[in-house]
Amino acid sequence: MKIDRQNKPQLDQYQKLKWLIFFRGLFAAVLLGSAVFVGFHENRPFFSQPLIFICYIAVALLILSALYAFILPRLFKFVRFGYIQIFIDSLLITCIIFVTGSFSSIFSFLYLVVIIYAGMVLSRSGGMFIAFCCSVQYGVLIALEFQGVIYPVGVEVDFIFRNYNWNYVLYKLFITIVACFGVAFLSGFLAEQERRAKKELWAMEDQVKRVEKLAAIGEMASGLAHEIKNPLASLSGSIQFLREDIPYDPDRDRLMDIILREADRLTALVNDFLMFAKPQPGQTKIVELDVALEEIINVFTTDNRRNKRINVTQQLAEGIFIEIDPEHLRQVVWNLLLNADEAIESEGQIDIKMYPVDKIYVCITISDNGCGMTEETMESIFDPFFTAKPKGTGLGLSIVQRIITSYNGLIDVQSSPEKGTTFNVKFRREINSRPVSASGSV
Ligand code: ADP
Ligand code: MG
Repeated sequence: MKIDRQNKPQLDQYQKLKWLIFFRGLFAAVLLGSAVFVGFHENRPFFSQPLIFICYIAVALLILSALYAFILPRLFKFVRFGYIQIFIDSLLITCIIFVTGSFSSIFSFLYLVVIIYAGMVLSRSGGMFIAFCCSVQYGVLIALEFQGVIYPVGVEVDFIFRNYNWNYVLYKLFITIVACFGVAFLSGFLAEQERRAKKELWAMEDQVKRVEKLAAIGEMASGLAHEIKNPLASLSGSIQFLREDIPYDPDRDRLMDIILREADRLTALVNDFLMFAKPQPGQTKIVELDVALEEIINVFTTDNRRNKRINVTQQLAEGIFIEIDPEHLRQVVWNLLLNADEAIESEGQIDIKMYPVDKIYVCITISDNGCGMTEETMESIFDPFFTAKPKGTGLGLSIVQRIITSYNGLIDVQSSPEKGTTFNVKFRREINSRPVSASGSV
């Protein structure tokens, strides 16, 4: 299988398994080398126990490592492969412990090593699973040895039975098992932290990439959009001119209507796009918010079609000022009102409120009892070109957000399907412009 470089979690898993295979191979080589070295150094016959068994295990590990390295790039399900590898490791560790004295082996710490990397590679539940496997294997090994069913290599028969009582054996077993689960818990916890940090980092990287891409595309596309605007204007002008000039024909008139309507739609799209891709720096003024909002709401409600199906209520606090380009304020409120309108299928209600939050912020709330949104939709509504409407552009809320953040404002949304949606927009107040009464209170 070809690794998908864009799929970062998968790539991360692949890299971890690659390193695991490498270190396992290295460990096997060191184990083999040290067994051979001890064999020669102590002048033992090479095929004496337990050296020869350690050599067998090391060679088995080397062969397995080569096999894993061969299989890994051809795989898709890395997690399952990780489980299999690490489970086999735990079996081999049990073999090493068995050939080096079982209960008296100094290699029982290797279980902890396996559990640590299980936690890192397989996550917390993987670490716990391997801790469970190691505990069972060690417990069975010791129990069988104590019962005299198996005899560890290189240790006198009945060694454990004669030297330790069952309570002591149980105690050591208990400590080992507690250590296994403790280490699994800790390594899983650390791995979880690392995974979370990585996830955040990846999300940030993606965001930066998106912004860079958008900036580049925006630069190019805004040039193109400007070029589209002029011919479009000539097109609409010419059609209107023709319409007045030629004799009336209902069929032709309908076609011209379509051309004009589509040209208008295209112009609106190009304008929206320009607003989003290359917003013009605004000319800010101190605006009396209730007056400005009332004007926008009046234009909105005078539309006849809307008037009949939607009941608009407003509750606006007086004497609140903000510093903003009035055109930007209009754009924000208009886009939110338009969305509320489009969310209401037949008849419904839109409530507009404006009230001071505290001394710093003022909040504009626009609620509708329209179709609402699912959690999933809500995650994407501020993305450019995200739309759930057949004729939507998906630019309305992107523009709203862009404008609001450029004034250090905030926007949030609450919505539930079939019940309705509320958008809250917070702007910084212009306190100094508030009229101060004679008593000094505001
Ligand atoms: P457009 O209106 O062109 O689809 P917007 O950016 O304005 O683009 O909105 C994006 C999407 O957010 C909409 O398609 C709609 O699904 C959802 N949305 C926005 N406002 C509301 C609302 N008041 N009620 C329900 N859904 C909404
Ligand atoms: Mg919209």
